[in-house]
Amino acid sequence: MIKSRRRFIRNSALGLPVLSLKAKRFRPPILPVVVSTWDSGTIANETAWSALTAGEKALDAVEKAGIAIEDVVSCCVGLGGNPDRDGFVTLDACIMDEEANIGSVAFLERIKHPVSVARKVMEETPHVMLVGIGAQNFAIQQGFPLESGELSPAARKTYEKWLEKSEYNPRINIERTQGKSKGGPFAPSRLPDGSFNHDTMGTIALDQSGNLSGMCTTSGMGFKMRGRVGDSPIIGAGLFVDNEVGAVVCTGQGEEVIRVAGAHLVVEFMRDGLSPKEACMKGIERIVTRDTERAKDFQVGFIALSPTGEYGAFAVQKGFNYTISEPDQQGIVLDSESYFD
Ligand code: ASP
Repeated sequence: MIKSRRRFIRNSALGLPVLSLKAKRFRPPILPVVVSTWDSGTIANETAWSALTAGEKALDAVEKAGIAIEDVVSCCVGLGGNPDRDGFVTLDACIMDEEANIGSVAFLERIKHPVSVARKVMEETPHVMLVGIGAQNFAIQQGFPLESGELSPAARKTYEKWLEKSEYNPRINIERTQGKSKGGPFAPSRLPDGSFNHDTMGTIALDQSGNLSGMCTTSGMGFKMRGRVGDSPIIGAGLFVDNEVGAVVCTGQGEEVIRVAGAHLVVEFMRDGLSPKEACMKGIERIVTRDTERAKDFQVGFIALSPTGEYGAFAVQKGFNYTISEPDQQGIVLDSESYFD
């Protein structure tokens, strides 16, 4: 039914000048496609690509991408991530499929795969979001092991360094996202052992049947207030999928993304006929022009994918990149354009 509605929209577009932009943009779909935030998206994409080319659904592919990245020790995703300012790692994740099924967890502790718990919320409960101890209890009930809660050696080191000043600066560090950081609480994008030290992982995928899904997983902003939740588990902010229009996932300063319901906003720009990149650019402009001076201090990045396999990105600051895999090329890291140079 979804497919035939899409076809109807295309056909009616041919006769209506008001929709001619959409008609002009029509191209035969390129399938499958997967797009992930950051260069660490190569890990997510590799797993998702294997799933997609084996004929699996986009939903399964993005969940597998999330699991793969949650297994890697990094600053910003999974149990190896940086803790909150009280020293606890708290995880946020969400998932959305082609039928607008959604699941989300926030402020989840000691569970290794929040993306899979989010999927269980979607499939096994009448609700869409569970948080904190309730989310943890649900995960345990569903058979997820309760992990130790110890910090990874990298996170412990970074946390100890942060404790020296305990400076509370709830901004995603721009220098880090520009790859210029010299260390300190916000470490460079790759750790000395070669593992990634990146931001929120968001993956959006288009499967061989032409259906879109997406997921987002993060340990959030390092050294945040206990209980702080960003955009990443919030459907419409960190992630949104409309199977007829597009899928969008976000990274960066969650507060700014929530303020404009970022992912939903960008999908709506695509509904108006903008390409994924144009829509991301317009979404970033909306964020920046609210307060251009303040925007100089934070980073937000959007990636978007259309049902025809067209993708694009845009960010507030330089330094944001994303990884794409499509039939012609896999695991390619592209630099996003940005509002500020
Ligand atoms: N968006 C995430 C948050 O605000 C952080 C990030 O992408 O780095 O929690």
